[in-house]
Parts: sequence; C-alpha cells; structure tokens
Amino acid sequence: MGQMFDVAIIGGGASGLACADVIKMNDKNISVCILEQLPRVGKKLLTTGNGRCNITNKKISLSRYHGENPLFCKFALSAFDAFTAEVFFNRLGVIFYYDEKGRAYPYSLQAGAVLDALRLFADQNGVKTLTDHKVTNIEKGKSGYKITAGDEIIKATNVVIAAGLLSGGEVSGSNGSMLEILKRMGYRVVETSPSIVPLKTENTLTKSLKGIKVTANATLYSKNEKIAEDCDEVLFCDYGLSGPAIMQISRNAARKGKDCFISLDIMPDYKYESVYDMIRYRATELCDRPLEDFFTGMLNKRVGQAIIKLCNLKLTDTAATLTADDFKNLAKTIKDLRFKVLGHTGYINSQVTAGGVDTSCFDDETMMSEKDEGLYCIGEILDIDGDCGGFNLQWAWSSAMCAAESICDRLSEDENS
Ligand SMILES: Cc1cc2nc3c(=O)[nH]c(=O)nc-3n(C[C@H](O)[C@H](O)[C@H](O)COP(=O)(O)OP(=O)(O)OC[C@H]3O[C@@H](n4cnc5c(N)ncnc54)[C@H](O)[C@@H]3O)c2cc1C
Repeated sequence: MGQMFDVAIIGGGASGLACADVIKMNDKNISVCILEQLPRVGKKLLTTGNGRCNITNKKISLSRYHGENPLFCKFALSAFDAFTAEVFFNRLGVIFYYDEKGRAYPYSLQAGAVLDALRLFADQNGVKTLTDHKVTNIEKGKSGYKITAGDEIIKATNVVIAAGLLSGGEVSGSNGSMLEILKRMGYRVVETSPSIVPLKTENTLTKSLKGIKVTANATLYSKNEKIAEDCDEVLFCDYGLSGPAIMQISRNAARKGKDCFISLDIMPDYKYESVYDMIRYRATELCDRPLEDFFTGMLNKRVGQAIIKLCNLKLTDTAATLTADDFKNLAKTIKDLRFKVLGHTGYINSQVTAGGVDTSCFDDETMMSEKDEGLYCIGEILDIDGDCGGFNLQWAWSSAMCAAESICDRLSEDENS
C-alpha cells in the first residue's frame, strides 16, 4: 500500500511550490506532497532573471501571453494578479523591488530568496517533499489517482501537474516527460517550440561584431509581412543575434521557421530623413575625415565601420568622396539592417516553451481537467507562454493559485457533505 495524500503535486518548480504553499495557507490540515525528479526543488528558479528572479511585472496584460487560446489565462491573471502575487510573497517574507520598466524582483535581488521563501514555508507547514522521485505514470482509479515514481506508488485524491516543459535544459528538470504521460491519458498536445531564445541568423556581419551591444528597434518579417517588433538592446553573436529585443520577438521566428528576416533600426530615435541629413552634414563639415572615422560620435565605432563596408565604400577614402546616393544607402542601412533568420539556438537556451497541453481540456477558472475530476495542470506545461519580463512566473503564480483554491473548495465540500 503506497503513501496516500489529499494532493500530490508533480514538479517542485515555481508553480508547484506556490500551489503547495497556497493550499497550506488556506488549510493546514490538507495533506500535500511534492514529487520532484531532481535531488532538489526549484533549480530553474535559481537561474531566473540572471540570478535575480524577475518575479512579476506591474504591467501584466493579456496581450503579453500567447498560445492557441490566450484568453484561457484571462480569469487567472485578473483573479490572481501581480498585486496578489506581491501579497502572497510578502506573507512568505519576500519584499518586492520594481525597476523603471515595472519589472518586479525580490528586494535582495537574489533568486535564491524566492526559492528559499517558497521552500521554507512548505517545509514548515507539513508539505512532504519527495525529491529524486521522477513520475513515470498516472492512473485514474475509483477514488483518486495512483502515481508511479520509480518503484514507489503514491496515491492522491487530487493530482496537480506542475512539471514545466523543455526550456532551460535537463539540468533544471526540463525534459517534457509529463507531456507523454498526458498524451497517454488522452490529452491533446499543441506542438512545442522554444521562445525567448537567441536566434541563428546569417552571421558574416554578426560574427565580425561579436560582443557589441546596440539599442535597436528589431522588426521580424515573415514573407515581407511584419509579425513582431521590439525596441531594446541587441547583442551581436558569432551565431547570430541575441539580447532582450531579439528574445522578445523570437517566439514567432522560432515557430515560423526559415522564412523570416530581422530588420534592425540602429538609430531608432531618429527618422530616416534626420539620419540622411546628419550624414550629408558630416560629409560637408567633416569632409577631411577618413570613412573609418566617419560615424565617430554617432554610432559604435566598429558598427559604423561595418556600415561603411556594407555600402561598398572604402574605409581609407575621405568623407568628401561620398555622393548623394551614398548618403541614401548609408541612411537606409542604418535604419534597415537585415539578417535572414536561419533558426533558433534550442530549448536549452530558451526561457520558455511555446505550445504544451491543449488548454481547451481544462477549466480556465480552476485549471482542473474537464474530463478527469481532481486532475489539474498549472504553469508552463499548459499551452500558454508569456513575453520576457516576469510574465511567465506570473502565469506560474496565477495558475497555481486558481488550482489551490479549487482544491481547497472541493475538499471542504467533501468534508461537509
Ligand atoms: C534561464 C531562465 C531564466 C528565466 N527567467 C525568468 C524570469 O526572470 N521571469 C519569468 O517570469 N520567467 C523566467 N523564466 C521562465 C520561468 O522560469 C518558467 O516559466 C517557470 O519556472 C515555469 O514554472 P513551472 O512550475 O511551470 O515549471 P518549472 O519551474 O520548470 O518546474 C517544473 C519542475 O517539475 C519537475 N519535473 C518535470 N518532470 C517531472 C517528472 N516526470 N516527475 C517529477 N518531477 C518532474 C522539474 O524537475 C522541475 O523542478 C526563465 C526561464 C529560464 C530557463
């Protein structure tokens, strides 16, 4: 006879830990276990926000979420919003710091603080954490679920699947193993792809500028149609492009495949006409300068020299040699520097996985399965992914809170009936 719990949570990551804590905040008597395949819980949380954990965002809105049916997260994100997340974390002892973009971090700027707060509350309130327990099967019985983890069987009235997906790689527990189990149980899975991920592009130029960051407006085109845009830092790499602006538009590039190109506007504060006028002015006023120094004070030196070469001009010629056509070419290249997308850099380098379990199989107010009473899916495993900036962790908190409240309500109804 295996161990028996009111609730078994599969996955001790962001959403699983939050779900366990909210259940215990509501009712200490509910027995909860967390089954985690790795030797410790919350490994991925430690890597979030470059080790600082971008825990949520002041500007949570539906438009920042994606999937076949993004409306699925409407209820959860409004019933359990960023403020609710802050109140929840305050109760765990974590105070928030907001940056100028509205991104929230723990005040200590340590992701470890978020994990410790979640973990300590769970431990001190009787949540049984079973690490090194990889779940390989779930079977529905007459009065609950039988979960297989190694050679152990755990029984539970309610099962919460909080197992994440593929982003961050095996070291953080991301292998998508639960997707196969859910498929076996009859759930449809929307095809997955990495998101918030650096992109492989034609790299002759990016390689020569490796390590240089510019602020740019990055626009993604698929078959000449604009499909995504973001203005932020772009980092040139030996394989292509990275940095926040690229990560933000990467979802569509990774899903659309190789028909895409990225256009960088590396002087986004100025219109084409202003850039053209600046170039014409410099060609007259700084006419003795060699072209290798033509953009000094206007663009990053190496980027400026690359633009000169891209326009088939010689670095050793002087500015006086530039013609009106050269002014146009130079201005156009600065405002529309193009890179063909060749692919993405893989799940291991991505922050979130697009696709996952079809949300239409679940109730959007409770996260409970429509066909299997007592079975819940929360967090990234569902076909919902957010933009970069704290949106994915907010989804983990919001969906976890919906499931926790539903479980507490159902268990108290059972007790009273
Ligand atoms: C490098 C990086 C940085 C990020 N930074 C941010 C950020 O700053 N802000 C933000 O909002 N989002 C960020 N994200 C995204 C965010 O971390 C995830 O969206 C979030 O952790 C998803 O929570 P989850 O609970 O669904 O899954 P996870 O946190 O991935 O947890 C899933 C857990 O389930 C366990 N598991 C999986 N399968 C099994 C199984 N079969 N049996 C038992 N256990 C299993 C795993 O080991 C893991 O511990 C980042 C992601 C990465 C990779």
